[in-house]
Amino acid sequence: MDDAVTTSYRAESFPYPEDAPASQALFDRARAIVPGGVNSPVRAFRAVGGTPRFMAEGAGAWLTDADGRRYVDLVCSWGPLIHGHAHPEVVAAVQAAAAKGTSFGTPTAGEVELAAEIVARTPIDEVRLVNSGTEATMTAIRLARGFTGRSKVVKFAGCYHGHVDALLVAAGSGVATLGLPDSPGVTGASASDTIVLPYNDVAALEKTFQAQGGEIAAVITEAAAGNMGVVAPRDGFNQRLAEIAHAHGALLIIDEVMTGFRVSRAGWEGLDPAGADLYTYGKVMGGGLPAAAFGGRSEIMSRLAPEGPVYQAGTLSGNPLACAAGLASLRLADDAVYQRLDELSETVGAMASDALTTAGVPHRLSYAGNMFSVFFTDADVRDYESAKAQDAGAFKAFFHAMLSRGVYLPPSAFESWFVSVALDEPALETIAEALPHAARAAAAAMGESR
Ligand SMILES: *Cc1c(COP(=O)(O)O)cnc(C)c1O
Repeated sequence: MDDAVTTSYRAESFPYPEDAPASQALFDRARAIVPGGVNSPVRAFRAVGGTPRFMAEGAGAWLTDADGRRYVDLVCSWGPLIHGHAHPEVVAAVQAAAAKGTSFGTPTAGEVELAAEIVARTPIDEVRLVNSGTEATMTAIRLARGFTGRSKVVKFAGCYHGHVDALLVAAGSGVATLGLPDSPGVTGASASDTIVLPYNDVAALEKTFQAQGGEIAAVITEAAAGNMGVVAPRDGFNQRLAEIAHAHGALLIIDEVMTGFRVSRAGWEGLDPAGADLYTYGKVMGGGLPAAAFGGRSEIMSRLAPEGPVYQAGTLSGNPLACAAGLASLRLADDAVYQRLDELSETVGAMASDALTTAGVPHRLSYAGNMFSVFFTDADVRDYESAKAQDAGAFKAFFHAMLSRGVYLPPSAFESWFVSVALDEPALETIAEALPHAARAAAAAMGESR
C-alpha cells in the first residue's frame, strides 16, 4: 500500500452519506436487464437493505466503489483473495499468461503446475480442474454415485455446496438470506435422493446409515461450515463421518471450496485430518479467477472420462489465466502467510467482540481456522437451527454503520468474514474506529423485527 493511497482515505470524512448515487445508477440500470441487478444473489444487499456498492477497483486491503469511496475489504471476493487485491505477482502472472493467448482448448503446462501444487499440499492423488465450486461438488457427487453404484447423498442443513440441484436443499447463506426453504426448479426426483441431517449430529448420521446405509453413495460436508456463518465441526466430527460412511461402503466428500488453501497450506485437512475419499476446492486456488477442482485417490478418480465411464468435461477448464493466477497465489502462500492470516483474524475478531461487549450486545464469535463470523445471539451456535436464532436486525444496523465508516463486511449475518495479509495499520485503524459506532448501532437495533 503506497502512501498516496493511504493518505487519501485519511482525507475522507466518515460517515459516508447514506446514498451512493453512482452505485444506485448502475443498480437501476442493472435491475432492468439482470435479474435483481446482480449475478449472484447475496450481492444484492437483500438481507441488509440499501444500495449494493458497485466496486470499481481493489488494491491491497482496500476497495473503491463507483462513488470513489474507499472501504477496508473483509469479504475478499468471498474468500479467494488471501493476498489482497491486485497483488503485483498475481497481476503479473495473469498479464504474462494473457499475452500468450487466453485459451487453447488443449492441455497446457500451467494446468500441470497447478495440479501438482494442489496434489503436493493435500492428501489427494489425482485432481481434475473445473471452473467453479458448484461444478466441483456436482461432479464429486456424480463420481461417488458412479463409483458406488448407489443413489442417495447425505448433506447437512446449513452447508452450502454450490447451486447443484441435489444439494440445494437446506443450503445456508444465500438461500437463508433470501428465506427460500429450497429452490423451485429443483425437481422432487433430484431432491428425493438427498437426505438432510443437522450439522454436528453424529447420532443422526448413525441412525440414517442403520436405516438405509446400503443406498447411500456419499456423505458430503463442508470441511468446516462457513455458509451459515462460521460453525466449526465438533472435535472428531469429520473423522466420525469417514468411519460411519466407510463402515457402510459409502464415500465421504469433504468440501474445501471455502477452507481450501485459506486456513492452512492443505486447507482444513491440514488442521483436522479426516481421511475423506474426495475433496473439492475452489476460491483461493483460482487467485481471484474462476478455477476449482476435485480430487481423491486414483482408484476413484480413474473412473472419470476418458479413463473411466463417469463423464465430466469443460471448454474453459484449466484456463491458462486462471491457472496462472491460482499458481501465483498458492506459491505466495507460505507458512508466514498462514501465520499472518491467523493473527489478523484473531485481531479483527477480538476487536469486534470487544466493541460489542462494551456496547452490551450479546454475541458469539465463532472461528474455524482463520475464518470467523459474529453471531448476534447469546446462545452457542453448533448447527443451522442455532445459527438462525440470531438477531438479524442487529446485524443489519451493525453492517450499515461499518459500511458508512469505510469497512466492507459480508452483507449477510450468515457469512464468514475473510481477512487478507494485505490488512495493514491504516486498515486496522479504520476497522477500530468504525467498530464502536457499529456496536452502538447494533445495540440500538436489538430486538427490532428482521
Ligand atoms: C463458494 C462455495 C461453493 C460454490 O463455489 P462456486 O465457485 O460459487 O460455485 C461450494 N462449496 C462451498 C463450501 C463454498 O463455500
